[in-house]
Amino acid sequence: SINLVNLLGSLITDYRLLAEPRNIRLDVRLPQQLVVQGNEDQLNRAFSNILDNAIKYNVDDGRVRVIGDQSGMEITVKVENTGAGVGEAEVPKVFEPFYRVEKSRSTRLGGSGLGLAIVKRIVELHGGKVKFESQERGWTRVTVSLPRNREKIPV
Ligand code: ATP
Ligand code: MG
Repeated sequence: SINLVNLLGSLITDYRLLAEPRNIRLDVRLPQQLVVQGNEDQLNRAFSNILDNAIKYNVDDGRVRVIGDQSGMEITVKVENTGAGVGEAEVPKVFEPFYRVEKSRSTRLGGSGLGLAIVKRIVELHGGKVKFESQERGWTRVTVSLPRNREKIPV
């Protein structure tokens, strides 16, 4: 089993290095344990892709919040960020492979548009769900929910 608190903790240590030069504040609210079963490398990749977006699409002096919770049979991890969000019409498309919002901005920032498609795939392989909520002028929030116990562990 994997404690996501440790996994997220070390990812956040790395991503602070990207956030600091742009004065992006990273707030973390995690319980002591968020235990799931699964493939550590894959989960690491999934949360890395989400944090990468939260910083890449943020603004200078912006904020990122990581909130973990355990309720009933599932754990949830929310990653919220300031910065230009995604329009209502484009939200349903962000999980499509190679889809990138507003080509010019996205092109300038670099990336292939695979990040969230990979997140969705990994989370679903773990029996979970991922949700993307955004307001064009407000916060973007990515919520991952994963079952706490699973018999089948992805390879
Ligand atoms: P890659 O992740 O492969 O480097 P990417 O970041 O463009 O490329 P995704 O991570 O799949 O691809 O994201 C798809 C698009 O959704 C992005 O191009 C961006 O426009 C938008 N997006 C994703 N996450 C956020 C976020 N946290 N805030 C604002 N926009 C976002
Ligand atoms: Mg990305």
